[in-house]
Amino acid sequence: MSRPGRQQKDGGGITRRQLMAALGQLGIGSLLGACAAPSGNAAWRLPGAGTVVHRGDPDYETWRSAMPWQGWVAPRRPESIVRPADRTQLCEALQQARRQGQRVAIKSGGHSVSEAFLRDGGMLVDLHAFRGVDVDAGSATAAVEPSLWGRDLALHLTRAGLAFPVAHCATVPMGGYLLGGGVGINTDQWGIGCHAVTGAEVMLADGTLVDAGSAGHEDLLWAVRGAGTGFFGVITRYRLRCAPLPRDIRENVFVFPAARAAEVVEWLEALVEQGMPDTEVMLLLANSPGPSAGAPPVTLCIARVVFFCASENASRERLAQVLAGPMASQALFKETMKAATIDSLMIGSVDAARGLGFGRSHVNTIWTARTAEAATAAAAQVSLAPSPKSHAVISLRKHTALRDDACFSALDRGFVGCYGVWDKASDDAANIAWSEASREALQPYASGNYINELDAFRRPDLLERAFSAQAFARLQALRKRYDPQGLFHDFPGLS
Ligand SMILES: Cc1cc2nc3c(=O)[nH]c(=O)nc-3n(C[C@H](O)[C@H](O)[C@H](O)COP(=O)(O)OP(=O)(O)OC[C@H]3O[C@@H](n4cnc5c(N)ncnc54)[C@H](O)[C@@H]3O)c2cc1C
Repeated sequence: MSRPGRQQKDGGGITRRQLMAALGQLGIGSLLGACAAPSGNAAWRLPGAGTVVHRGDPDYETWRSAMPWQGWVAPRRPESIVRPADRTQLCEALQQARRQGQRVAIKSGGHSVSEAFLRDGGMLVDLHAFRGVDVDAGSATAAVEPSLWGRDLALHLTRAGLAFPVAHCATVPMGGYLLGGGVGINTDQWGIGCHAVTGAEVMLADGTLVDAGSAGHEDLLWAVRGAGTGFFGVITRYRLRCAPLPRDIRENVFVFPAARAAEVVEWLEALVEQGMPDTEVMLLLANSPGPSAGAPPVTLCIARVVFFCASENASRERLAQVLAGPMASQALFKETMKAATIDSLMIGSVDAARGLGFGRSHVNTIWTARTAEAATAAAAQVSLAPSPKSHAVISLRKHTALRDDACFSALDRGFVGCYGVWDKASDDAANIAWSEASREALQPYASGNYINELDAFRRPDLLERAFSAQAFARLQALRKRYDPQGLFHDFPGLS
């Protein structure tokens, strides 16, 4: 039996020609012709390049543990793992699940912090093969398949003089990222990723392929824009509106002791509020080795301010704005006006020495208007982290407008998250306990939670904090309309 290629170990994805052939065959809005109904038993296999692995097959555990992006693998076991090679095989897989009375979970890149795609029982459909991209420079649009890495999209767009708010880490693909919102690079200017989704091709529970946003399916596009792990179909392609590529990207770094995190947040919040429309402001709270052997680690607050400007002069004007006032000069260390590219901003997330293995991870994040207080709580948590790699991230924004045409409905000026990162299975319990304690430490400051970084298996009660009450109710009503038999799993914690 074949071995699973993890998303991150494979290179380019399908060629433009292959994608265009597939698009030509299908066409957005067309109905997929009835695919052959497969017979129903545990020996069911897909023909050709598609793969099916059943629980009990010798390679099952190898496949299951290759599904998440990280080394920690949730102890949940689907009956079968199916990797369709194309839309016809995807349709066959859904038909097979229906015949068998199995529920279906979908995976694009496997980055879900709770590994929401791993459920007990049922079928896991892995969209690994869906990685096409087609950029149209003239209309500043792109069509992307769900397992395409953010970095791969950014590289294609850069060549066309375009940009998109892809995730900050190179390997985060478009599938779950956009479905749950998409708080990526320069989002205060370019917007939340799902707000730039202009259409989507979705395979519904009955195997039909529909164009979300087309007449009669406006509600489906609303749900595509933010439903996250509560979506009730398979997104096989997004259409995106892109931004012009900024001519001058500059990275600026200011390092302070973590004890000053609240002051640093207040300083940068005031700047963001004043108006720095082409600037991204993030802070990292991380432990640095102590000054001498045996000395305890020092927790630092690293402010990273990136300008996405039209010219070097414009970047210098932004820098003057940042340097005005006392805080910048009090930094322990600073580096300013470092020339950057979208790729250089992302590539730090890929460690050449370690390959693409990121170790083990668990995450808790909040939206907040009380960012300075939450930053102090996060700094205290980081100083207690059992792993030196664990850290906290804070991002600040001015624009918090939500849209009626998007289900994404929890957002605030501050985003604060504690990110547990460790290497050994023997350290799982201590690090997950730290991550859970971090969630409890941050939650009092939360105005909401981010569906893409919420472990609802552990706290299903927080699901309703990830949406407005109206959006949550509308989503559940749409689920009944589009998936009346309940083929697709509901949110973790709800099914
Ligand atoms: C290293 C790392 C960096 C990150 N950086 C950012 C960041 O900068 N900004 C940000 O906003 N988020 C970030 N995230 C969070 C990320 O957005 C989510 O984990 C997101 O779910 C990842 O997408 P995925 O395709 O890997 O999802 P998966 O883990 O594959 O799937 C998660 C869930 O999404 C649904 N789903 C996924 N694909 C489809 C599909 N095609 N059709 C229907 N349902 C689908 C399913 O319910 C599935 O259970 C990061 C995560 C990691 C691990």
